[in-house]
Amino acid sequence: MTADRQHALATRAIHGSTLTDAHGSPHLPLYNTTTFAFASTADLLDVVDGRKPGSLYTRYGLNPSLFALEETLASLEGAELAWAFCSGMAAETALFLAHGREGIVCIGDAYGGTLELLSSQLPLLGISTHLILGGELDRLDALLAGGAKLVFFETPTNPALELFDIRAIADLAHAHGARVAVDNTFASPVNQRPLELGADFVVHSATKYLGGHSDLTAGALMGSKELLLPVWNWRKNLGSTIAAETAALLSRSLRTLVVRVWQQNAAAQAVAQAMTRHPRIARVYYPGLPDFPGHALAKAQMHGFGGMLSIDVAGTGADATQVADRLRLFALAPSLGGAESLVTQPCTTTHHGLAPEERARRGIPDSMLRLSIGLEDPADLIADLEQALA
Ligand SMILES: *Cc1c(COP(=O)(O)O)cnc(C)c1O
Repeated sequence: MTADRQHALATRAIHGSTLTDAHGSPHLPLYNTTTFAFASTADLLDVVDGRKPGSLYTRYGLNPSLFALEETLASLEGAELAWAFCSGMAAETALFLAHGREGIVCIGDAYGGTLELLSSQLPLLGISTHLILGGELDRLDALLAGGAKLVFFETPTNPALELFDIRAIADLAHAHGARVAVDNTFASPVNQRPLELGADFVVHSATKYLGGHSDLTAGALMGSKELLLPVWNWRKNLGSTIAAETAALLSRSLRTLVVRVWQQNAAAQAVAQAMTRHPRIARVYYPGLPDFPGHALAKAQMHGFGGMLSIDVAGTGADATQVADRLRLFALAPSLGGAESLVTQPCTTTHHGLAPEERARRGIPDSMLRLSIGLEDPADLIADLEQALA
C-alpha cells in the first residue's frame, strides 16, 4: 500500500513510494543498472520524448531506485517533486545555476561549502551573490529590489542555531517576484517543512539526517513541478545524479528517519539542559531551551527542536579544544545527523578558513563546540561531556 499525504510522516517515510516489486519484496530492490532496454524503437521514443514515464539511463535520473527514493522524499517534505543528487553541494549547485543566475541573497551563516560556492565560485560565472548576516535582514528588501531572484538560507543555522522566520522571508521575497530556498538539513522534514511555510524549494544534504548512519553522501531538492523541471537538465548534464546504490541505501535509511529524529530531539534536549547547569559552560545554543533567543520562533515553525546544539566552554579556544580532545563517545569529526554523536570546534573545521574577527562578527567564538547528538543513551553522552569538562 502507498501512503498518501493524509498519512502521518512516520507512515509516509515507510510507504511513500508507489512502486511495487514484481516478486513481492516489501520494498523496491536495488536496480544496479546503468541502462534499460526497450521492446521497440517506438517504446524507446515514448520515454525519450517524455510521452510515457519509464526507466532509460541512470544519470538522467530514469531508474526505478531513484523514482522510489524521490517519491518518498517529495512526500516527506510535502512537495510535488524531488530530485536526488550525489551530494548536498550538487543539489545546491544545480539549484543556483537553474534559478539563481539573476542574483542570489544568502541570509545568515551557512555551511562552509555553500559560503565558498556563493562567495568565490559563482561570481566567476558572473552570478552576483550577496551574503548578509541575520542582523542585516533590513538589507533584504533593497537587494530584492535590485534584482536578486533567489533567497537562500538555513534555519536553524550552522553552528549558532540562529532561527529565521520562513513565512516572513517568503512573503517579502514573493512580493518582489523572487523565490525562496531553505537548506533544511539541520531540521530534517521531521522537525520542519519549509514548503508548508511558503518556501519554494527545500535543499538537503541527505548525507546527514536523511541518510542518518554516516555511510552515504547524497543530496535532494524538493519543490513544485514547475520549478523543478528547469533543474532537470542541469542535474543531468552536470552529471550530479545520485547513484542507484546510494538511492537504495538512502531509501532504506528513510524508513527509520522519524524514530531516529524523535530520539535525537529528546536526547539533545536532555544534553542541552544538562549543559546549562554546568559551571564550565558559558552558553548553550539550542532552540529547545526556553530562554534561547529563537525559542518562540522555533516553537511556531518547527515540530521539534532537532539533534544539533552548540556550547561555549568558559575560557579560550584552547580550552574548548582540550574538551573536544577529551571526549570519548563523541567522535571528533565534521559531519552530523548520524547514529554516533560527533563534536566539532567550528574555528578548527567548518569556519577555519575565516579570520578570527570574521568569526567573531558571525557570533562564532573560538570557545564554541558543536555537538551532533546521536542515538546513544543521553545519560552516557552527558557523563562523557562531564568527564571531558572536569
Ligand atoms: C553537509 C551540509 C551541506 C553539504 O552537503 P554534502 O552532502 O556534504 O555535499 C550543505 N548544507 C548543510 C547544512 C550541511 O550540513
